[in-house]
Amino acid sequence: MNQYKTHLMVGIISIAAAVILIIVAGKQFRQMHHDEPLFPSQFLTRTIPLSEFNKNLQDTPGDATIYCFEGNEPGGNVLIVGGTHPNEAAGFITAYLIIENLRVQQGTVYVLPRANHSAFTHNDPQEGHPQFFTIVGKTGERRFRYGSRNTNQVDQWPDPEIYLHFPSNQKLAGNETRNLNRAYPGKINGTLTERVAYAIVNFINTEHIDLAFDLHEAAPEYPVVNAIVSAGRSQELASEANIELQFEDLYYSIEPSPYNFHGLSHREWADFTGTYPILLETANPMQGRLRGKSAASLIMTGLDPMYLKAAKLGVLKVPYDNAGIPLNLRVGRHVAAIAKIVDVFSRNYPEHAIIVSGLPTHDDLITLGLGRYF
Ligand SMILES: [Zn+2]
Repeated sequence: MNQYKTHLMVGIISIAAAVILIIVAGKQFRQMHHDEPLFPSQFLTRTIPLSEFNKNLQDTPGDATIYCFEGNEPGGNVLIVGGTHPNEAAGFITAYLIIENLRVQQGTVYVLPRANHSAFTHNDPQEGHPQFFTIVGKTGERRFRYGSRNTNQVDQWPDPEIYLHFPSNQKLAGNETRNLNRAYPGKINGTLTERVAYAIVNFINTEHIDLAFDLHEAAPEYPVVNAIVSAGRSQELASEANIELQFEDLYYSIEPSPYNFHGLSHREWADFTGTYPILLETANPMQGRLRGKSAASLIMTGLDPMYLKAAKLGVLKVPYDNAGIPLNLRVGRHVAAIAKIVDVFSRNYPEHAIIVSGLPTHDDLITLGLGRYF
């Protein structure tokens, strides 16, 4: 009888512990489904749901908000896409910063900060990634989600053994079927990721976007970092902007979009729309295979002792020292490159000029920090 009571007690305690764990974990998972509030600048003129460009996205976790800033003077149209990969903080934080600070005098700027909206709703716990990180802004702490590279499997499942890209039939690993930056030009009634890609391409065509940016980050040992990636028609523009950035002591490598690698934004936006596509890449140790502890602070500081060792061994593609590669510097590189490329484009195509203000320079972000702009 005593043994029976002991077993019963162990059973009850185990079930109670499991219920507590489920409640705590469930609460944490739920929080990932809430979009953090953004506070657009007073010059926001309207927002548009992405699903307006593919009705098959309506009422799905793939729908997202496009923030639109229209200047008083007519001019060109720019699209800035962040959050293609929500584990690349500088990509979407740059988009958030632009939304909260931008003023457009001439032309129109559209910002899509959570391009893969579903991928913000989960993260990669097997990578030891945190769910959130914090920026101390003007009115206190602001918490941002740190998502995953790919669409949430709750929203798109199961992965095929082999991902066949539409329409090229290029073969990739099955999980790449949930990677937005392998899904372009997309498919109107395809997987959730293909439907998002289709909506973005349709948006670029419908709104006659002249210049389109896709903001990313990658591991410091990856060959394409601190880079401006451009497809054929945008190569001259990228090169001209790069020379002028060098005069400001900002160094980027110019990378051409590969012709035979399908699904990438710069490749397919060039082939399926009339826009000038640009992809920007910064170096982020949190995404690297060589990193040590994956604390939320690493997203902010970019300082990792294992990467210091790697730098000494000469295996990194970027300069790296005790200063790390902090988020304000990575965002500064994105903002500086966007501003310069928009400037050069406006000079070369005055009838499609875009004139903006309100954004910090690279140096502003280094000296004043990110929090000054949030
Ligand atoms: Zn990326």
